[in-house]
Amino acid sequence: MATLSADIIGAAKVVVLKIGSALLVEQGALREVWLKSVADDVAMLKAEGKQVLVVSSGSIALGRGVLGLAAGVLPLEQAQASAAVGQIRLARAYQEALQPHGIETAQVLLTLEDSQDRRRYLNTRATLNALLGLDVVPIINENDTVATDEIRYGDNDRLGAQVASLIGADVLVLLSDVDGLYSANPRIDPEADHLPEVQKITREIESMAGDAGTSGASGGMRTKLMAAQIAINAGCAMAISKGERMHPVKGLLSGDRCTWFRASGDPSSARKRWISAMKMAGVVVIDTGAARALREGKSLLPAGVRAVEGDFGRGDPVEIRSVEGDLVAKGLIGYTAEEAGKIMGVKSADIEARLGYTGRSALVHRDDMAI
Ligand code: GLU
Repeated sequence: MATLSADIIGAAKVVVLKIGSALLVEQGALREVWLKSVADDVAMLKAEGKQVLVVSSGSIALGRGVLGLAAGVLPLEQAQASAAVGQIRLARAYQEALQPHGIETAQVLLTLEDSQDRRRYLNTRATLNALLGLDVVPIINENDTVATDEIRYGDNDRLGAQVASLIGADVLVLLSDVDGLYSANPRIDPEADHLPEVQKITREIESMAGDAGTSGASGGMRTKLMAAQIAINAGCAMAISKGERMHPVKGLLSGDRCTWFRASGDPSSARKRWISAMKMAGVVVIDTGAARALREGKSLLPAGVRAVEGDFGRGDPVEIRSVEGDLVAKGLIGYTAEEAGKIMGVKSADIEARLGYTGRSALVHRDDMAI
């Protein structure tokens, strides 16, 4: 039987799975059998030709068990210490669960700010893309030992959405302890209706998630809605699903209850809109050959650049104009203005000789460009 989840996930090329602590860790110990079943699901998605990224919580829950810390809310530094102890185990658990499927894993620790700083954003994106290109499944968590904000329940929902947005994923699945959004808190109101699909996050939808101050009471639904908004804006559909059962993704595909937040556009056009709307930090003037190449969907190489204007940093948005002054494209540039000035007109193979270090071959990568 075709289900909505099977339609949406079936059509996806890039899938992000976000796994909550409560699913992965029980009384300080890892739920190994369950994790193995998730690894089976990841292998199934990969066998269908999809790229998969996992955003996993659980480092603090695992670490505090190892350290024998008392129950209840931990002081920040103890939570961060627990994360450091738990993360090493968490990463190993994924590695051990996926290796029997012949799948390599990588540990990637990010902070929520990484996607706000453009330079770090570009680096993170390039590294994740490289890992996916090498057929690796990145296992991502917040870098809790350096995070400056308090670690909040639900941060990884937003981190999952930011990763999905940054990598241009089509689908984000939150495997959590709730099977979706209800018209009221189902723990309090037995009459609450389950919503299988949400097209737009309206005031009414927000009110169903409860107040910010009582987010815990509705199972962290507020942060899940924040995550959904980030995902939708990036052209990525998001599901809130209950991941407790074995093979939770297979379960979804065969019709397990969940709430889908549908994106109106696709990730690539959402990204182009996002780039186009930015405040431009400079101009790169290119020759006719480069303008033609860009229109054919190629990246901008330093060889085609005639002039560089403005004082921009790496990752800043720039206008790309023809020598006649026509706007050809807008894009995020991979070099600073100073570097771009040094390598303009230079063949990619000679970049290192000019700069004294290796940079990226493209000045503006085609994925970071809106024509
Ligand atoms: N990063 C935290 C951990 O791994 C979890 C944060 C969250 O659950 O949202 O323990």
